Amino acid sequence: IILRTVLNKKVPLQMGRMCYSSSVPTTKLLIDGKFIESKTSEWLDIHNPATNEVVGRVPKATQEEMLAAVDSCSRAYRPWSDTSILSRQQIFLRYQQLIKDNIKELAKLITLEQGKTLADAEGDVIEDSVKVVEYACSMPSLMLGETLPSITKDMDTFTYRLPIGVCAGIAPFNFPAMIPLWMFPIGMVCGNTYLMKPSERVPGCTMLLAKLLQDAGAPDGTLNIIHGQHAAVNFICDHPAIKAISFVGSNPAGEHIYERGSKNGKRVQSNMGAKNHGVVMPDANKENTINQLVGAAFGAAGQRCMALSTAIFVGESRDWLPELVERSKSLRVNAGDQPGADVCPLISPEAKVRVESLIQSGVDEGAKLLLDGRNTNVKGYENGNFVGPTILSGVSPAMKCYTEEIFGPVLVVLEADTLDEAITLINNNPYGNGTAIFTTNGATARKYTHEVDVGQIGVNVPIPVPLPMFSFTGSRGSFRGDTNFYGKQGISFYTQIKTVTSQWKAEDATVTSPAVTMPT
Ligand code: NAD
Repeated sequence: IILRTVLNKKVPLQMGRMCYSSSVPTTKLLIDGKFIESKTSEWLDIHNPATNEVVGRVPKATQEEMLAAVDSCSRAYRPWSDTSILSRQQIFLRYQQLIKDNIKELAKLITLEQGKTLADAEGDVIEDSVKVVEYACSMPSLMLGETLPSITKDMDTFTYRLPIGVCAGIAPFNFPAMIPLWMFPIGMVCGNTYLMKPSERVPGCTMLLAKLLQDAGAPDGTLNIIHGQHAAVNFICDHPAIKAISFVGSNPAGEHIYERGSKNGKRVQSNMGAKNHGVVMPDANKENTINQLVGAAFGAAGQRCMALSTAIFVGESRDWLPELVERSKSLRVNAGDQPGADVCPLISPEAKVRVESLIQSGVDEGAKLLLDGRNTNVKGYENGNFVGPTILSGVSPAMKCYTEEIFGPVLVVLEADTLDEAITLINNNPYGNGTAIFTTNGATARKYTHEVDVGQIGVNVPIPVPLPMFSFTGSRGSFRGDTNFYGKQGISFYTQIKTVTSQWKAEDATVTSPAVTMPT
């Protein structure tokens, strides 16, 4: 964070931004190691979701700027991939420390642009993001190849992993630090150069992360940043120098990017939307289950791809509903920078309208509104995009509030008589990102984990996001591609394998005639 004087007033200005014609700071592009002001005539406003005040502007980069960014990545690729992996590791070891040293500033930026509570924002930066960078620092061991000596007389085979070239990342708004950090650190330590396009709604955090990477010693051109919406995304899908695209976001965008990028011969990994079910068995620990459900449904105002947005109460556990409602009522809805805030605002007024209309659609289709978070008034933040915790019960699979991802603080509740019935419901839902079961019975948990067709499963763990040594394994309608983000799969995504077979014969073992059959 630097301070600039604007209209005789000292205002905090995020790194990578500079004065625009008014007091609103603009977000810069990062091209070839320089933070530069875009020459575009098209700008988008960035809003504080708690007030809807404009806190910055972000450019839609011009074609010329986007070409300059990719050219910079291409020029930097050869020297960067030739740099020893130990040198690349050292840069990222310094980087993880710089992120830790700047957690407060990064968290403030997240709360300002994205709205989540400061405590949650710090969790986004420390708990989740830094671990991926730390994992990337183990790359010298993780990138080891394989060897098989003496596959035939005097012949050995070995493989090694190599980077693939220029890679690109397209990020969503809901985790401004964590998701960009799923992308460029692993890609870059593997030896690739990287083009990032952050979410146009929350670009500030990525810009500060890029500045910290520069400070850690990343050479110019190894990371470039462009901004924009559809044109920037299509540019990434089409540019021939870009070999791989990592995308996280909604289904319409993710399907489009997967199709367009794949048609252009690129690798694409595309993490998309979700409808995560929490199954509550009657033998579960009631107190733990209710607390975990409430936290996972309403934390970050439900704007997490792993939020538990759907609960299935099996058998008599349905009697716990009144307590679930009471516990949910106790959450405090407030601006993210206010002490004690539990539920933050939604990202935009449009998101608020959409969430409220999905709540109404549930009511219209016969669901029971046990808790209504619409018309939540937050004192001092009357213009914010607030929706309080909302619970709809008696929901059936055909209702719109069940078929659509709501991405707000709304828990839809279904009931089932048996575990089999719950599993069938979940396996018929098109999404396969995450799920959780609450039970004290090991056999029930085992049956569930084996039969449910979902990528990430928690047993008494409400948000089972895997640590970076594993991979983020969302499946079915929540993912397109072959290899998931981070972990061993993430390294496979950003590398290719070269296989060398060599024969070194002793001088007296000369081949005496040509072999015209396929050698074995
Ligand atoms: P979004 O799809 O609107 O935006 C994501 C990115 O795609 C942005 O950079 C945006 O500029 C671009 N984009 C948006 N619409 C586009 C279009 N039609 N064509 C081309 N590009 C487009 O997503 P969001 O609202 O920022 O994020 C919320 C979504 O992301 C939710 O659906 C959530 O479930 C999902 N998400 C998934 C994961 C996961 O790992 N599965 C993680 C976080 C968020």
